[in-house]
Amino acid sequence: MKVSRYNMFWTLEDGTKLAFNSMTCALAEVNEDFLSMLDRAPELDYEGLAGEEKDLVDQMLLGNYILKDSFDELKVIKYRHFAGKFNSDSLGLTIAPTLSCNFGCPYCYENPKNGMMSREVQDALVELVSDAAKQRKEISITWYGGEPLLAKGIIADMSERMIRVCEENGASYGAFIVTNGYLLDDETIAQFKELRINGAQITLDGPARIHNTRRMLKTSDKGTFDAILANTRKLKENGIQNISIRINVDKTNVDYIEELLDILIDNDLKDVGIGLGHVNAYTDACTSVADACMNTEEYARKNVKYQDILHRKGFSAGGYPYYPGIKANYCCADSTSSFVVDPEGFMYKCWNDVGSVEKAVGQVLRRNEAPDEDMYMRNVDYIFWSPFDYAECVECSLLPVCMGGCPYNGARNGSKPECEKWKYNLEDVLKLTYLQKKDSPEPVCVGDACGCE
Ligand code: SF4
Ligand code: SF4
Repeated sequence: MKVSRYNMFWTLEDGTKLAFNSMTCALAEVNEDFLSMLDRAPELDYEGLAGEEKDLVDQMLLGNYILKDSFDELKVIKYRHFAGKFNSDSLGLTIAPTLSCNFGCPYCYENPKNGMMSREVQDALVELVSDAAKQRKEISITWYGGEPLLAKGIIADMSERMIRVCEENGASYGAFIVTNGYLLDDETIAQFKELRINGAQITLDGPARIHNTRRMLKTSDKGTFDAILANTRKLKENGIQNISIRINVDKTNVDYIEELLDILIDNDLKDVGIGLGHVNAYTDACTSVADACMNTEEYARKNVKYQDILHRKGFSAGGYPYYPGIKANYCCADSTSSFVVDPEGFMYKCWNDVGSVEKAVGQVLRRNEAPDEDMYMRNVDYIFWSPFDYAECVECSLLPVCMGGCPYNGARNGSKPECEKWKYNLEDVLKLTYLQKKDSPEPVCVGDACGCE
């Protein structure tokens, strides 16, 4: 037998020893028997084991801390990575029915454009979904913009048609919306259930006096905080289960989050998911905010701070949002089954590219024609973005949870992987998670394959 190359060990102040394996994301409190079994691994004869020793080795095998000699970890990670890229069970479309927005946030990376998705593009998208539903098990739609609720009629009409073609062809259908939350009125929320929009991501950037300086209407000085908070409550009261509040953080607002969390508690919103978005000057549209952005290390440290605060304040949705997960491919950008579509029908791999036609990888109106060579190659480049092309990633013990980081950032970084936050905060996040779980009245699984019952 042999020892995993993805084991990591830490000792807490009270002497407790923790073992983490990044290939399974298992985290265990370990004792001397565990550690000595690791030393003995090369001489272990699995078939000859019995009793407590065998039980321990079986647990260690489940967590991938030790392996059978024939198991090639790097090959398995590579297989998972490419299987994820080329998985064709589902189709994920992020659809922007408009790139217009009623807000004028200074950090927005999009280049706003007026206009709505034409009927011709809507028809072509429904046809694409219809074709996919004949071959795939699942169609998953994310409504995006601009502000998608400026195009409520298009969302309603397209949803009904896409749901119908999925039902006719036996594919499951689900949808989510990313919205600034300002236009969420009772009628719209009531429609969500019919339109199978079962989750929403809404942005609040701090308490009202901070939020209102960052998330402002284009046409008025009136603050948006109160309306968004009230609308988020309405979503919850109307049974929309999957609500997540995204707090876009940079150096200027990161220290006000606790105040926002208290407001959410006072408004009975302790059970919504909370995510910290890392404000980055992704495109020329948002270079004005570059000086305020935190680097990945600073952002990673703030994640640890807020993991602690969220836990202490009793936020529960999504458990511990900052625990690492096993990655196959990275995101929609390096998957053959996901696209972002703009109102003109141009298809993109990354959310940051939407609306920049020179970054498009396809055009839904020309789906049945010979592919444009430039678009085709851009698609191929995104799909083949792979950490296995970089020696530092191949050697890295974080590879299974990082997978070379965001492909868009990698391309921006001169075609070099940009390390994920785990490089800076994994140890702190895991120690904190251990202490939080230890204090929890009920045992909770923290790893995708830790082997616990
Ligand atoms: S490439 Fe990066 S920025 Fe683009 S969708 Fe993926 S994670 Fe997001
Ligand atoms: S990008 Fe950095 S942290 Fe991620 S796998 Fe590569 S070397 Fe490791």
